[in-house]
Amino acid sequence: MTTNDFEAVIGLEVHVQLATESKIFSRAQAKQPEGTSLTEEKANHNVTPVCVGHPGTLPVLNRRTVEFAIKAGLATNCEIRRKSVFSRKHYFYPDLPKGYQISQYDQPLCEKGWLMVYPKGAEPRKIRITRIHMEEDAGKNIHMSGFSLINFNRAGVPLIEVVSEPDMRTAEEAGAYLRALYSVVTYLGICDGNLQEGNFRCDVNLSIRPRGQEAFGTRTEIKNVNSFRFVEKAIEHEMARQIEVVNAGGKIIQETRLYDSAKNVTVSMRTKEDAQDYRYFPDPDLSPLIVSETWIEELRRTLPELPEAKRARYCSDYGLSEYDSGVLTQNKKLAAVFEASLSLLTKKGIEEKAGAKVLANYLAGEVSRLMNEESIEIDQSKLGAQHLADLVPMLVADELSSTNAKVVISEIWKTGQTVAQVVESKGLRQVSDVGALEPIVAQVMTANAGQVADFRAGKEKLMGFFVGQCMKASRGQGNPKLFQDILEKKLRGK
Ligand code: ADP
Ligand code: MG
Repeated sequence: MTTNDFEAVIGLEVHVQLATESKIFSRAQAKQPEGTSLTEEKANHNVTPVCVGHPGTLPVLNRRTVEFAIKAGLATNCEIRRKSVFSRKHYFYPDLPKGYQISQYDQPLCEKGWLMVYPKGAEPRKIRITRIHMEEDAGKNIHMSGFSLINFNRAGVPLIEVVSEPDMRTAEEAGAYLRALYSVVTYLGICDGNLQEGNFRCDVNLSIRPRGQEAFGTRTEIKNVNSFRFVEKAIEHEMARQIEVVNAGGKIIQETRLYDSAKNVTVSMRTKEDAQDYRYFPDPDLSPLIVSETWIEELRRTLPELPEAKRARYCSDYGLSEYDSGVLTQNKKLAAVFEASLSLLTKKGIEEKAGAKVLANYLAGEVSRLMNEESIEIDQSKLGAQHLADLVPMLVADELSSTNAKVVISEIWKTGQTVAQVVESKGLRQVSDVGALEPIVAQVMTANAGQVADFRAGKEKLMGFFVGQCMKASRGQGNPKLFQDILEKKLRGK
């Protein structure tokens, strides 16, 4: 069968690191110290006897962790269980000194939620969330040559694990789901969202089946992919690999695989454990967690406007396209800059919808491009709301071309100069004074008499050539639209 005869079935498990002050079951600081040199100078700083499971220590649940997890559940349309239970999940690994991880198993805090996702160029889809549970993170092994070191700073850092139903069918849908979930947790402020530091890590479960078949195939699980783009690539690669195995008459075995982003392949790590291997049982050190209706309602009232609602509001209030609204609202900081600029613009008397349209163009365009290129957030650049509020009126008044607006943005991005400074020092102000442009047109026509004759004889595609010559003669400062209007008149003798 060809590739097109198969479809992928994808379910994602996402570990979100919660931005609490202290760890989930101890008073140790949860925030990781700066500096990740090989030997980690500050290794094992944020550690109490609870984090390393010394005999006689007892876990005490951090209330803030529960609040954050409930907020995540409410924001993803989950039911919040009034009674949930912490269980021990046993496995043996040096970074887990207790010999078990405290997690939630058959009675997780949140269940039966969903998120809307908007994959690029495809229909919006509702992706169901099976459950969200709380658990503790493990420490970190650092392998040196001939020996290993263990850093327990991360042991006991609170996580939520968000498990989706196997509802996704393409890499784009999986990418869109991850980005949507990421925006929700960063909007809520429950996660710092630092991908490089592993604040948001994803396991990809994937199987294939012939199109039209209902039963699921055997899945593999790709562990710990921590970039949205790598998730998409890993999915494409793993799908192709499974199709090849099946087409060659082989069978997919249930196993855990690792994605190697440098080689763009997935490699087998181990055959997958089943739940029974973990010997789950309720942790006798922790009583069941009872959550009152009042507490849930209190937390519901603290929820900020969420990306989905903001998106709808941008479409209806500002008349922005679905796409632009999506790009702007997916990133909390980008949305904040948009709203701050827009409010400055309306104070300057720019009509709201017109201002919003121009702002959205540049934020979803040049600004997003710079963010992606450098993998940074807008607040890590030198460009702020005031800059954009100074730039937009110049565009509306035709004092700056769209090409030069991009030059101004990328200059401010690095230097933080004012718009006026960049425009003056680079000579970017657009000349829209007909009196100043007409002599340039006349000069270009004289210098290109042959082309003028050709144009008048019907070779009308020469218009681009003339506009180009005029732009060149004005050193890029003339208004191209006005040049064209003047040329139309002069060339046609109108
Ligand atoms: P485990 O806890 O062992 O990883 P779960 O049953 O909790 O297993 O499922 C984990 C993830 O795998 C979920 O996101 C689920 O949607 C997904 N999943 C389950 N079956 C399949 C399948 N056949 N193909 C793809 N994904 C699947
Ligand atoms: Mg799993």
